[in-house]
Amino acid sequence: MVDKETLVDWDKRYLWHPFTQMQDWLAEAPVIIERGDGCYLIDIAGNRYIDGVASMWTNVHGHNHPELNAALKTQIDKVAHTTLLGYSNIPAIELAKKLVELTPVGLNKVFYSDNGSTAVEIALKMAYQYWQHKGEPQRKLFIHFDKAYHGDTIGAMSVGGIDSFHTTFDSLLFKGIRVFAPEAYRSRNTGDSAVKTQWLNAVENALSEHRGQIAGIILEPLIQGAGGMLLSPRGFLKELSALAKRWEILLIVDEVMTGFGRTGKMWACEHESVTPDLLCTAKGLAAGYLPLAATLATDEVYNAFLGEYRDLKTFFHGHTFTGNPLACAVALENIAIFERENLLSRLQPTIAHFRNRLQEFNELPHVGDVRVCGFAAGVELMKNPDTNTPYPFQEKVGIRVCKEALNRGALLRPLINTVVLMPPLQISTSELDALLDIVYKSIETVTE
Ligand SMILES: *Cc1c(COP(=O)(O)O)cnc(C)c1O
Repeated sequence: MVDKETLVDWDKRYLWHPFTQMQDWLAEAPVIIERGDGCYLIDIAGNRYIDGVASMWTNVHGHNHPELNAALKTQIDKVAHTTLLGYSNIPAIELAKKLVELTPVGLNKVFYSDNGSTAVEIALKMAYQYWQHKGEPQRKLFIHFDKAYHGDTIGAMSVGGIDSFHTTFDSLLFKGIRVFAPEAYRSRNTGDSAVKTQWLNAVENALSEHRGQIAGIILEPLIQGAGGMLLSPRGFLKELSALAKRWEILLIVDEVMTGFGRTGKMWACEHESVTPDLLCTAKGLAAGYLPLAATLATDEVYNAFLGEYRDLKTFFHGHTFTGNPLACAVALENIAIFERENLLSRLQPTIAHFRNRLQEFNELPHVGDVRVCGFAAGVELMKNPDTNTPYPFQEKVGIRVCKEALNRGALLRPLINTVVLMPPLQISTSELDALLDIVYKSIETVTE
């Protein structure tokens, strides 16, 4: 094996890291992970870190999990990849059936891809083409939300709402309708029905202003992730779904982050008994092991694409690694573990504990808001919480807290001034307490 110094050297020489100012990266010593062990990651120097963000919000049952490993090994001894274009494979079929059973009733068809952005692109293209088949080709616009994040490809960015990520590429993006609801994101507002009404009115205004031109609405249900762990008002999803039905447009729910138990139920949609027309899933789908995504559609959407070959109603979209058997085999085992271990009901007391302990963070003078949704949380740091004054982003307070946490044994990644906590679902109570202690002390140290 290559020695540690060489790895550091090669990293800096050859790698370009995502969402990273490489000038800063080059000035620092990188953490290079070598192994995983349950909720811990171990670097090449032998340091152990609690994985506080589940390896970019993907990991479900911990790292190096014996049963997930076994599922992967069993499949790899059969075949690693075969195509779904013109042919089929066993794990892709079995997983499709399982996903249809697992998702809200009515989502009956599974279209695979390999990441969250593509799952969103597919949903958007399906919705767009759906209206052409329905004889309403003028329905070309999507309603989307301020602070939304749906991925980094051009289409996914077009329905995004994070200026710092998206403004640079403005002229590349397609036109849509961005709905603003500036008062709705703080934890204190989630139960405020006036805030919910404000959001819904903004959507309804857009619908009536662009009557007959809207193809669909896309949103992250209950909580917007990359935008800063921002909470929607309670009941918003349910009423938005009713609004979409009333206006006869498609509802696209992006469960890329929220799916697979992250919010305490398998899908965030279940909290408000919503069945969307299209649902996107990715991050936790293959338990954080492999890139795999799926877009689920109703029969109504799927059936609109049926026709004679010559009619060109086919959905002309597909990625080379669509329905990869290795990833599907791991995803099947992921779901099997949920079922065998009755994980979601076992998780409820841990979620309650997580929520309770996070309330302690409000005691810290520079914590402006603590937002929790199931097993996902954001602790927003502010220069002055009393006047809602944020830290200037140049102060890198989130980054500094995460660096402090790293020295104390936890691996995190902030969203500007918001410290994100999103451990693997299988984290034990004592590991969770250790993680929360580290984060608390790190915030205290950095912001004192
Ligand atoms: C992460 C994320 C995406 C993008 O997924 P990638 O796999 O990174 O392309 C899309 N939507 C949401 C809600 C996400 O959190």
